Amino acid sequence: MNKRKYEDALNTLDKTFQSTNAIKPAKSGTTRKSKMPDELERRVNWFSMTHKLQSRKRQSAKEISDTTTRSDLFGFEKFIERLQTFSLRTYTSKPAELSPPAVALKGWQHDNGHRNRIVCTKCKQGLIVDFSATQPSNTYSKQLTSAHAASCPWRYQYCPDSMYRIQELYLPPSLAANSVAERARRIDSIIPFHIQINHPLSGAQVDTLLRSLPEPRPSKESSILALYGWEHKPTALPSETLLVSQLDCAVVSLKSDKSVDVVRNHRFYAPQLTPSFQGSSTSGAEALYDKITRRGRKKQLEESFVLDSISRQAVVKNIRGLLLGHHS
Ligand SMILES: [Zn+2]
Repeated sequence: MNKRKYEDALNTLDKTFQSTNAIKPAKSGTTRKSKMPDELERRVNWFSMTHKLQSRKRQSAKEISDTTTRSDLFGFEKFIERLQTFSLRTYTSKPAELSPPAVALKGWQHDNGHRNRIVCTKCKQGLIVDFSATQPSNTYSKQLTSAHAASCPWRYQYCPDSMYRIQELYLPPSLAANSVAERARRIDSIIPFHIQINHPLSGAQVDTLLRSLPEPRPSKESSILALYGWEHKPTALPSETLLVSQLDCAVVSLKSDKSVDVVRNHRFYAPQLTPSFQGSSTSGAEALYDKITRRGRKKQLEESFVLDSISRQAVVKNIRGLLLGHHS
């Protein structure tokens, strides 16, 4: 009687479930390669290189020489290298348009020998960005282009603002979750004591975050630290335990009796704290949370769907048994 209907319903359920599974990113390297634009692929490579020390060690001579080609002058790795030269002690309080990432996007790095001086590694020109000299900031903003030598490529081109962004935001949700979880597990495996943290997430948000990370699930504290871009940094001193945030070069020394503020220990220009894209009211860390937990919610749906279809199958089996019993 209703047997056909039940079977049809089950088939539909199976098909739907299979197709939601099929959305998962392909694991094959070649498929990913063909889908990813060059720049994105370079960034993901850089990301895994800096986040997995082992693969950094394995970096071949060819890969190193590849980073010196002309197109890489405007690339992500070189941008990060320039950004890492800035010290807030010698490059003092600047508005956003003259912040270290803003000037590094236009080819400048900090000349650490001189207070507030920036320098171009390509044309060797320098510029002192000093507000005590009463110049308004828009004068400096123009000079970020005009102070390069006439022959310097930075006069005609610069890196897009989008380059200074949490790299995990460029990954598919499941890869972003894996990356955060990996960073968190590494903290768990190395830090010998319970880390105390201050963070802005609600209890419910923390639960959702933890549910969204893949197994084996890292600790709550490490997961929140990792969401906010913190990772363990190996040091020469065994007594010292450092966490760093790669993108704003912030460093925090971990102590068992002192808590880490996942927000306030960042530098003011960290992409975790600033809008995730121009004009957005969502910070980078919030955008990453949304990305990862959307995946978590989807996974939850899938899980409940599996349970649902299993119990449906049991029900249908029982009904089928009853029907057959009646007929025989
Ligand atoms: Zn230049």
